[in-house]
Amino acid sequence: MAGLQRLISGGRPATPFCRLFRFAVQNAAAMDRWPRYGTGIGLGVIHVGALAALIPAFFHPSALIAAAIASYCTGALGVTLCYHRVLTHRSLRLRKPLEYLFAIFGTLALQGDPIRWVAIHRKHHAHADDEGDPHSIRRGFKWAHMDWLYRNNIAMPTQAEILRYAPDLYADRFYRALQYLSVPLQLSLAVAFFSIGGWSWVIWGIFVRLVASYHSTWLVNSASHMLGYRTYRTGDRSTNCWWVAMVSFGEGWHNNHHAFPFSARHGLRWFEIDMTWWHVKVLAFLRLADRIRIPSEAMRRRLAHPAVRPLASVSDGWAGGP
Ligand SMILES: [Zn+2]
Ligand SMILES: [Zn+2]
Repeated sequence: MAGLQRLISGGRPATPFCRLFRFAVQNAAAMDRWPRYGTGIGLGVIHVGALAALIPAFFHPSALIAAAIASYCTGALGVTLCYHRVLTHRSLRLRKPLEYLFAIFGTLALQGDPIRWVAIHRKHHAHADDEGDPHSIRRGFKWAHMDWLYRNNIAMPTQAEILRYAPDLYADRFYRALQYLSVPLQLSLAVAFFSIGGWSWVIWGIFVRLVASYHSTWLVNSASHMLGYRTYRTGDRSTNCWWVAMVSFGEGWHNNHHAFPFSARHGLRWFEIDMTWWHVKVLAFLRLADRIRIPSEAMRRRLAHPAVRPLASVSDGWAGGP
C-alpha cells in the first residue's frame, strides 16, 4: 500500500491529491458507512423530476401505459419476484435465462444491483429490528422508510460484508457485471422511451415509475414493521399490512415473511392476496419455475400466536426474544 502511495506521489512532497488518496485508502472500510450524498442527491433529482408529471403538457395516455408496463416488469417481476424471492431467499428457482432477464428488470428499478440489494436484505433478516439492521424500525418510520439510504448508517453493510452476505451471487459473473450497469441500463431505457414517446414517456416511464417503485418497496421496510397485525411470533416488529401488500405485489404480508423467509408464498391466509405468488404458480405451470418452498401446516402452527393480534399487544422478541 505504501508503495502504491509512493507511486502516486512519485517521491515528491504529498500533494492534496496524494493526501486525499491516502485518506481514502486508510478509511475505505469506514467510507462504506458514510452519508451517501450521491444517493441522496440522486433520489432528490428523481423526486423533483417526477413533479413534472403535474404539468399537463407532459401527459399522454400512452405514457401512462408505458409507465404501468415498466412498473410491472421492474417492480413485480424484477424486485419482488427475482431480487427478493428468487435471489435473496431462494424460495424458488427460475430457468436461468428467465432469472437473468428478471434480474435486469430489477436493476432497472434503480434500487441497487442484485448483489448489493440481496446483501442488504439478508442483513436485514439476520438482524431484524436490531442494531445491525440497515433499516431498523427502532430508529423511527422515516429512517426505516428512506433516511437509512443516504444518512450516516453504521449498519450499512461494508464491501466485505456484502461479499459475505451474498457470496452465491458474487460467484456469478453475470451479477458481478450488473454491479456496473445500473445507470447505463436506466439511461438506455430513458433514451428508448424518449425516442418512442418523447418527454411524456420519460417523465412517466422513468421518474414517476421510479418514485412509485421506491415508496412501495420502502413501505415494506417502514409500514410493514409498524402497522398492521401479527400472525406469527418472529422476534421482530414485522407486521402484515394489507395496503402495503396491495401496492407491493404481496410483499406487505411481512410478518408471514419474517416467520418463513424461505417461503415463495407470503400471503398465507385466504384473504391475504399475494400477486407474486400467483406469478410463481403460473411460472411453475409453464415449467419455468421449480423448487418452490412453502411452510408446512405444522411449521405454521408452531409459530402462530394463539390469536392474531395487533402489534401493540405483542411483546415477543421486541423486549428480548420470542
Ligand atoms: Zn423486514
Ligand atoms: Zn426477505
